Amino acid sequence: MDSPTLHRHPSLYFPDGDIVLCAAAKSGIYQAFRVDRVYLIRSSPVLRDMLSGSSPGAVTSSDVFDGVQMLRLNDDASELANLLELLYNTVTVSLQRLDPSNPLRAMGILRLATKYAMDPLRKIILHCIEADWPRTLGEWDQLQATVAHARELNGGAGGPFIDDCFPEPAAAIRFASEFGCPSILPAAFYQLAITDPAADWDEFRRGNDDDDAAAWEHRCALATGGRTARWELLDRANLMRFLRGRTALDAWLPDVEDCLTSYLGTAECVDHFHCERVRAECRRVFLLEGPGRARPFDPLHALRFLLDLVPQHQLCGACLRHIRGELLRVRQEIWDELPTMFGIPTPPS
Ligand SMILES: [Zn+2]
Repeated sequence: MDSPTLHRHPSLYFPDGDIVLCAAAKSGIYQAFRVDRVYLIRSSPVLRDMLSGSSPGAVTSSDVFDGVQMLRLNDDASELANLLELLYNTVTVSLQRLDPSNPLRAMGILRLATKYAMDPLRKIILHCIEADWPRTLGEWDQLQATVAHARELNGGAGGPFIDDCFPEPAAAIRFASEFGCPSILPAAFYQLAITDPAADWDEFRRGNDDDDAAAWEHRCALATGGRTARWELLDRANLMRFLRGRTALDAWLPDVEDCLTSYLGTAECVDHFHCERVRAECRRVFLLEGPGRARPFDPLHALRFLLDLVPQHQLCGACLRHIRGELLRVRQEIWDELPTMFGIPTPPS
């Protein structure tokens, strides 16, 4: 192999390192990383074999740079840099909690960590991605409350967009499909299902021209807390899951309405005529002014809305308890049904 010009990496070139790794960057230059053999050997059985000369691509005595042995790798230099940064902890972790780009950043590192069999590192990365997505209805509610709070604080005050601070579903779905962490899929698909398909991550961030009406509208949507998704990352199978799940979520609307109208025997209700009128009024507010008419329909939000709305109306105690119980039951049922609605493969137990 010819000797291309090597550029020493600005932070991952330790003068006392005893091995140089070399990889090509997209720009065409070759990047050199001077690191410690012992770190590589301990963290990767694959690199251990390469360095000991017992596998193809092993180090040869003729490969020397700056006086130490050099191992040429056919990996992307920036992905290798991310992996080594994680290994050396020179950045705390390049994955900040809830950052919408975490799955995209993690993909490159994880591909290399898998290739070099760095299992502990793999687990850390998977854990970071999993921790960004709620796994229970309680955790989902907590995340929604955090988003709502951030939205309230921001209120068009020029802070970062809400969309830049919370997980983006399509990248997460792509990540989960490639690296097998199905536990994040129910929440990610649900988030995708309540995102307007016209709201595209890249499209909404394109252009700053004030004369461009579409660009201006997109910026306004982001500034007022709008959410987007990287729709083009969905493959055919995941797009079908989204479509089927979306249809299934719409079909819950009558069940949500039934919570308000379901019959409670006169023996329990103290004023049947009065309570029926109040139930009808709640239903009217829900369907005409509330989330009953909002699209895409978000049944978990709709039920949360009703849980807050119903106690504000003067129902008898028995009706209030009954309706509240129904709303909570249906809400939990929807959450539990998400894997079925979206056709998500069940994780091995
Ligand atoms: Zn009643």
